[in-house]
Formats: sequence, C-alpha cells, structure tokens
Amino acid sequence: MTEAFVHTSYAGRVVFGAGSLHQVATEVELLGIRRALVIATGSAQPAADEVQAGLKERFAGRIDGVRQHVPTEVAEAARAKAREVQADGIIAIGGGSAIGLAKAIALTADVQILAVPTTYAGSEMTPVWGETSGGSKTTGTDVRVLPKTVIYDPRLTLQLPLKVTAASVANALAHCVEAVWTEKANPITETTAVEAARALSTGLRATLANPTDIDARGNLLYGACLAGTALAAAGTGVHHKLCHLLGGTYNLPHAETHAAVLPQVTRVKAVEVPRAKARLEEALETDDLATGLFDLFAAANVPTSLQALGLTREQAVAAAHSFPGDVEEILTRAWAGTRPEGATR
Ligand code: NAD
Repeated sequence: MTEAFVHTSYAGRVVFGAGSLHQVATEVELLGIRRALVIATGSAQPAADEVQAGLKERFAGRIDGVRQHVPTEVAEAARAKAREVQADGIIAIGGGSAIGLAKAIALTADVQILAVPTTYAGSEMTPVWGETSGGSKTTGTDVRVLPKTVIYDPRLTLQLPLKVTAASVANALAHCVEAVWTEKANPITETTAVEAARALSTGLRATLANPTDIDARGNLLYGACLAGTALAAAGTGVHHKLCHLLGGTYNLPHAETHAAVLPQVTRVKAVEVPRAKARLEEALETDDLATGLFDLFAAANVPTSLQALGLTREQAVAAAHSFPGDVEEILTRAWAGTRPEGATR
C-alpha cells in the first residue's frame, strides 16, 4: 500500500443482534441520559411502547409519527417538545425520517441520541442532518447530531414491506457506491463500501425469497451500518447532491429517488475509479456496476425511473439546469429509466 490518504472516522457505539431492543434502557443508563424523549415512526409503536415501559423514570415524553425530509415546522414542534419535557436524550426508533427528526433537535439543543434504525437508510451512522423548508432541502454536517449509540435489532425489520425494503437497500447501496468516488474516498471507505455492498446484495436476494428470514434481515442491517459508516467518512458527491435537490424541490420519495438516479450516475462516474468498480462488481456478482445495480433494483421491483415517481420530463430538465455541472444526460436517462448500457468504460 503506497497510496497516500486521509481518513476520519466517527466515534459511536453499535449494539447489534436479534433481541437487542431489550438493551435500550441499559444503554440509556450508560449514556447518563436522565430524561429521554422517544420519537417513533408509525410502524414502530409496539417497539416504542416496550422502550417506554423499560425506561421507567427516565421516560420524559414521546413523539409519534414523523414526516420525510424533516419539514421545518415538524422540526420546530419537536424542538419545542424537547424543551418542554427537558429532554437530555432522544431515542429515535424508525427509519431515516425518525432519526432525522432527532438530529434536528440535537442541532439546537444539548441532547444525546440513541438510534434504533428500522430501515437501511444509514442515517444513524452519520453526522449529516437535513431540513426542508419552502421546497428546498438544506443539509449539513455537525458531530452534535451523530448518534452516540445505535441499536440494530433485525427483529424490528421483519415486517418492513418488500417494496420499502428494496428501495431502502437501494439507498444503502447508493451510500456504498458513491463512497468510492467522492473527494474524501480512501482505501478504508472503499473496503467498508465493498463489504457493505456484499452484505446488502446477499441480504436483498435472500429477503426477497423469504421476507422474514432473520439472517437475511440481519445481513441487510449489517450492510446498512457499513454503508452509513462509509457515507459518513467519504461524504457526499454528485449522486447524493442530485437526490437531495430532487427530493427537496419536488418532494420525491427519498429511497426510490436514489434507485432511479444511482445507475445513471454510476454509468458516468465509476470509470474514474476502476479498482473500486471492479471490487464492487465482484461483490454484486455482476460484470458491469451500472447495469448490475439497475437490474438488481428492477428485479426487486423498485421503480428505476423518476417518471414512475411522478416527476415530469420538464422538471427533470429544470433540475439539471439548476445543478452546478453537466447532469442533463444523467437526469433525462434517470427520468426515462433507460438501462445504463454503454458505460464509458
Ligand atoms: P422513512 O424513515 O420515511 O421510512 C419509510 C417508511 O417505512 C415509513 O412509512 C415508515 O413508517 C416505514 N417503516 C420504517 N421502518 C419500518 C419497519 N421496520 N416496518 C414497517 N414499516 C417501517 O424512510 P427512510 O428511507 O428510512 O429515510 C428517509 C429519510 O432519511 C430522508 O429524509 C433522508 O433524507 C434521510 N436520510 C438521511 C441520511 C443522513 O445521513 N442524514 C441518510 C439516509 C437517509
């Protein structure tokens, strides 16, 4: 190894395993949290009930139901609730939306986050926050929003519908793939990304065959953890920036937008990183990364066009024009859902 590189990793504790939800109260105690505000996504109400009961006198309040892309009015209401109950800790149970709301609170208050992810979005491993206001999404990086402890319990994901599962895995794969070509990409993020991609593709195929296979679900959460870790260190590049622009401006579903855009960005960008491209192709068992991703998503019934998400061609072109850099071909192909053959190899 002669390649020079700089790598920053973020400190955090991961507790992984079927049944680990039971450890929330112990982990809250270890963090020294005395007043915990629980945020739970709609589907996580039974898990939140269990956590609430286990917290006993450390339970301070609860926010049920969250919205995607953290609208400012939702963030403001959550901050007010946290102040009202004098929370010094937030327990977020759910997908990226629940964890994103916890981050919005941590950005302006001195609270520690314990995250219990139930999708594969990976936000729990990153110091990245986002908030949407007036049709535009602002994102930033701040270590105050990084969860101190993350509890991964595959049992909580057994009922995640296959459609949501597959799109969320596409989101996680986007973290891995982009982590090999960002400015901060390095051999550590690359190796993390390759292992993540392997776990995610193996886990997805097995989950599609049997949605309640706990080992397959465990593989997906493990892959999501690694993918989020790679994203945290490598940062975002053209792919994530495009998805944030589309999601914030046209209120498109986050994970599905990644699935439609990733193969097209990969078609153009992967050639710049031939070693990583080859390693990811081996992990995904394909001989071309861009078409391999496209076919994997299509086989899992994830929409592979922005058109299918309700975007008009005019909106895709307008988004391309408002983006710094030439992305019109990427976005028109993503809009149409063209199989990304003819990668400039
Ligand atoms: P989500 O949190 O909105 O969840 C998607 C849907 O799945 C919701 O309806 C939810 O109730 C349901 N759900 C979640 N877990 C479930 C389960 N186990 N069983 C059944 N249903 C379940 O979507 P997401 O894709 O996880 O997160 C998207 C958000 O996260 C976006 O706002 C995105 O910007 C953000 N995000 C942030 C980062 C970061 O690093 N900051 C990374 C990825 C995503």
